[in-house]
Amino acid sequence: MDSTNSLQSVRTKKTITVNIKLVPTCKMKNDPSELHEDFYESLFENTLDGLAYCQVLFDAQESPVDWIYIKVNKNFEKLTGLKGVIGKKVTEVIPGIHASNPELFEIYGRVSLTGESQRFETYVEPLARWFLVSVYRPQKGFFVAIFQNITDQKQAQKDLEDARVAARNVFEDLQVEEENARKFYEAVNAAAEHIIITDADGVILYANKAAERITGYSGPEMIGKRPSLWGGKMDSAFYKKMWKTIKYDKTTFQGEVKNRRKNGQEYFADLYISPILGTDGNVNFFVGIERDLTREKEIEKLRIDFLSLVSHQLRTPLSGTKWLIETIKRGVIGKMTKKQDEYLDQIYQINERMIKLVFDMLSVLRLESEEAVVKKETVPVSDLYEELNITMGPAAKSREVILRNRVKNHKAVVVETDLTMLRSILECFISNAINYSMPSQEITLDLKEESTGVVFSVQDSGIGIPKEEQKRIFERFYRGSNAKIFKPEGTGLGLYVASMLAEKIRATLSFESEEGKGSTFYLRIPKNKVD
Ligand code: ADP
Repeated sequence: MDSTNSLQSVRTKKTITVNIKLVPTCKMKNDPSELHEDFYESLFENTLDGLAYCQVLFDAQESPVDWIYIKVNKNFEKLTGLKGVIGKKVTEVIPGIHASNPELFEIYGRVSLTGESQRFETYVEPLARWFLVSVYRPQKGFFVAIFQNITDQKQAQKDLEDARVAARNVFEDLQVEEENARKFYEAVNAAAEHIIITDADGVILYANKAAERITGYSGPEMIGKRPSLWGGKMDSAFYKKMWKTIKYDKTTFQGEVKNRRKNGQEYFADLYISPILGTDGNVNFFVGIERDLTREKEIEKLRIDFLSLVSHQLRTPLSGTKWLIETIKRGVIGKMTKKQDEYLDQIYQINERMIKLVFDMLSVLRLESEEAVVKKETVPVSDLYEELNITMGPAAKSREVILRNRVKNHKAVVVETDLTMLRSILECFISNAINYSMPSQEITLDLKEESTGVVFSVQDSGIGIPKEEQKRIFERFYRGSNAKIFKPEGTGLGLYVASMLAEKIRATLSFESEEGKGSTFYLRIPKNKVD
């Protein structure tokens, strides 16, 4: 800077004497063309900017390492928060400045040497302030920094930038959400299942394409109406149960529904309705999904009809064959040779297996087609005892196993259930125990009365069930590997039928078994639980 702006002879506390000129030599105090030194002094003191007049300290390599405050104006303290800096080094006044603002040393050092003024913004971390600084050289090795505190401005700028970034993020999120919502909408609309959304009163707000296809009504015909518009066929008890579950219990309802399309045609569907709750726990809306089962039902019916026709057709010739073999064995056509007799026995056994298979298949078909009606009967255990002795006694005898029927000890017990179904399950247990036991082994049929039910048990000491196969024993057609060797004839349908019967009478089946040691099968009938 030129000498007109220099200060004159400033003495620091540390008696550093610097000869600088603040103004050109003032000759005439009253000459208006010549400004008095006081004027500059007052300008220095009163300017709103902060002013610091400093000397730069260099090391041996001429690198700027510090600066000393020689003079600062009134606003310096206000703008920097620093007090009593005169004569002190900046590294004392602001510890850490070297690490936080190495550029200040570099800039002030350069300006003080070259005289090239500079203007810059800087953040002084130890003071947590932003400054806009103009620096110039009054004389070599010195600088004057004129600065403003621009922290608020910077903060405002940052807030603005943050707000801009936040706004952009929100906008981008919205775009993504909108895109996701669009994809979701397309997926729902194209779903094979019939999907409808209703308000909390059941009025339809949305119906997808499959809903139009299944019900036969167009979207506009459904929106604003209740789903019962295509009902009419919906059983009223079913409807009440559904509404109670979703509206009052606020849980998902699942069931098979029979309904009618717009053209009057009946259809079957698997129905799921879920209430969607708000944060207050109230139902906001319902989402209903139906899967059309009509075609599946038709195919299933054809399958059952076909199998049952075949089974019935087989029964007659098989019974005829049985009757003929028995007739021949009675010697009606003359005496048989020993070999002929043996062969005839084998034919008889094979025919018996076929009869059992057909009988079991018909039982399965009847149960699967839900034709079976469950009766609620009062069954005195004493009756059961007699009947089982009659039906199972001969089989036990022919296999030379001992059947102990301990049910006689509980003759006073009475169970409420379907007698035929109960007897079928117990017969299955007993016949398995007979079939999978060795001659002279014992089978015990017993029962235990509990507060909530009656538990029948059939225990044997036969071949048992291999541990790893036990979980499959109630599966359709499943036979244990040891059972197939021990008794090749067998259908693997007995326990499957028993489990279906148990489900009908709300009973439960279980067993304990150890291979080579025997098995115990249990049937638990709950008290007062038959519908
Ligand atoms: P099946 O006796 O005609 O094979 P089931 O469905 O009645 O068909 O039984 C399925 C399988 O369970 C049998 O093949 C056998 O492996 C096993 N099982 C059932 N009861 C017993 C038992 N008391 N002892 C040993 N294994 C048994």
